[in-house]
This record gives sequence, structure tokens and C-alpha cells, in this order.
Amino acid sequence: MHPVTSSSTASAPNAPVTPAARSARAARTAEESAAANTRDLAARSRADGWDEGPVVIALEVGGARIRGLAMAADGTRLHSGHRRTPVGHGPDAVMETVLEYAADLARRYTPVAAGIAVPGLVEEAAGTAVFAAHLGWRRVPVRRWLTEELGIPVAFAHDVRAGGFAEARLGAGRRSRSFLFVPIGTGIGASMVHDGRPRAYTDARTGELGHVVVRPGGDPCPCGGQGCLETVASAAAIARRYRLLSGETRITVREIQHRAEAGDPAAARVWHEAVEALADGLSPMIDLLDPEHVIIGGALSHAGKTYCDSLHGALATRLTGRRPPRIVPSRFGRRAGAIGAALLAQRLRPAERAPRGAGTHRLPAGGTPSVTGAFT
Ligand SMILES: [Zn+2]
Repeated sequence: MHPVTSSSTASAPNAPVTPAARSARAARTAEESAAANTRDLAARSRADGWDEGPVVIALEVGGARIRGLAMAADGTRLHSGHRRTPVGHGPDAVMETVLEYAADLARRYTPVAAGIAVPGLVEEAAGTAVFAAHLGWRRVPVRRWLTEELGIPVAFAHDVRAGGFAEARLGAGRRSRSFLFVPIGTGIGASMVHDGRPRAYTDARTGELGHVVVRPGGDPCPCGGQGCLETVASAAAIARRYRLLSGETRITVREIQHRAEAGDPAAARVWHEAVEALADGLSPMIDLLDPEHVIIGGALSHAGKTYCDSLHGALATRLTGRRPPRIVPSRFGRRAGAIGAALLAQRLRPAERAPRGAGTHRLPAGGTPSVTGAFT
């Protein structure tokens, strides 16, 4: 449980309201600066009388980064950047950074709608983040606050479902009748997509593949369990487990993979255990859901053919009477959720505008997470 210490209230579009918000604003990345050239091009195009059509903006809130996007009607990305997620400054600071980043994009691009994708347990119909452990969020009315901040319609979705939607519409799942989208980064999610549509949730917990217990009595997980899939097979777990074995403190997952392929015993062991655990977690889902493809997203979407082939081989030893589905990397990688949120925003119709800054934008002080969606 995270006590809320911030005294912030509504985020005025032009004024950071707390030190955390100011430092977040200062933490803009070089990636955003580079996007300025794209914006200039768009502005020049408009000045020349060419209009790319209504623009939408979208954000995906992750444990390390808040990724932002501005997208024209034809799919052109006018902005693609990120800001650091200020998790160390508490849940209010994370929300303030989200609102401020969105307001900044809205000032620059005058969008007709916005989309936001959030992790953890969500209630999509209510637009609420029920429980996001890495962000410290509990029962946060994200869609309402963002609507009040921007004064435009806002689409709200679970990050994994949004990512699956993006892959179905424009990415690696474009020609697949059914696929399982599995982003692997800090955690591990899963979304089943059928005929271009993510399967409907029956409760807020669906999609949290990372918390399926595959190693009973294993490592502790932030969810409170032990031996969850993401304690072995997530990108974060691969890095942590290799650091424990090797004593190295600064090494990337990509480097660990290179070492595993080069014969480093510790790296090979960690990598092998991650693939085996993932196959344990996925095989019952594949048996039940029968996807044509499994699309690996998130940080491990860059792990390439050897990773996909290893997973395919591990699944082949577990599935009886059937061949494993094809395993392919995601097209959009870490940006799939933001792109999916933008596509969802494009589907919104302009509605009556909400008053700007009408909310207090302050998180409730703790509370018990609900997994039944029994809140409004
Ligand atoms: Zn867990």
C-alpha cells in the first residue's frame, strides 16, 4: 500500500503543480526533441494547405516509461516519445505526469480524441485502473480525469488488450484469424485476439498471465505470490536472476541473450529456465484457446528467431496431439499499447466537451483492490 503524500490538485495545463511534476517535465527525452522535426514538417504541411486529417493522441503508462503518441487520421505518427514514470515520487506524481504529458500533446496537436492504456487490473467499461502495483495506483478514475483535463473524448483500455488490437489491425497479427499476444517486459500479459478483436474480459484480472504460478514455492512476486511466471520469464526476471548468478550489476537482457548463445553457462541457464517457464505458462492456454499464432511483444519482441524457435521447441514437448502455433515477434514492440490506444481513440466520435480541469486529480489514500469491478 502506498500512502499518498502529495498535496497536488488539478493540473493546470501550463503550470507544473508539484516538484515531482516539474522534475518530470524536465525529464523530457531526446527522443521527444527529435520528434520536433516531425512536428515542424506537419506544421509546414498545414501551412501549405495540406491537412493530414483529425489527429488523436495516446499514452501508454508503463512502470518505467510513459509513452506518448500523436497520430494523424492516415496513421502517420506526428509524435512518438516518452517520459520517465516517476514511480519513486509516488502515485500522485505518476498521474500528474500523465496529465501533463497529455496536456502538452493536446496543446501541440489539437486532437479530436485521446486514448490511454494502463497496466494491471482495470475496469475498461468504467475507465478505472483498479490496481497497478508498479505505479501504486488503486481505483484511479483515469478516463474521467483525463477527459476533464483535455476536454475531449478519451478511450481507455488495458495495455495488453490495446497492444493486441494494434497488432491485429496493423501489425504481426494482421493476417491471423486468432492469436495470443504476449508482451514480456517488467511483467507478462496475454490477450487473445479473434477476428481482429481482443477477447472481452469477464473480470479485471484476465490477461495477467505473469501471475500464473509455474514454480510453486519459488521467488516472491510483487503480487504477494511465489513462483509466478514473471518471477522467472519476464525480461526483468532474466536480468535479476543473471545478476544474482554472475555478480554483475549492470547488464541488459540483450547482452545476457548474446552470452547465452555464446555458451556462458550462467546466462544459458537463466535463459533456458525463462523459456521453459514460459512454455509451462503458455501450454494450457494454447490447449484451451487454440491460437494460430503467439505474438511475443514488449522488450522480448527483440529477442529474435532463436528465442521464438526455443519457445516453439519447448511447447512441442508439452502439447500432446497437436503442433505448437507459430511464434512470431510483435511488429510494434514496446509501443504496441500506445498505438492500440491511438487506434481506439480514432474510433471515438466527438462528443460534448467536458469542462477542463474540473476534477481534483488526487488519488485516494490506499484502499483494497477490487478484482470484481464492483465500483463506479
Ligand atoms: Zn505474481
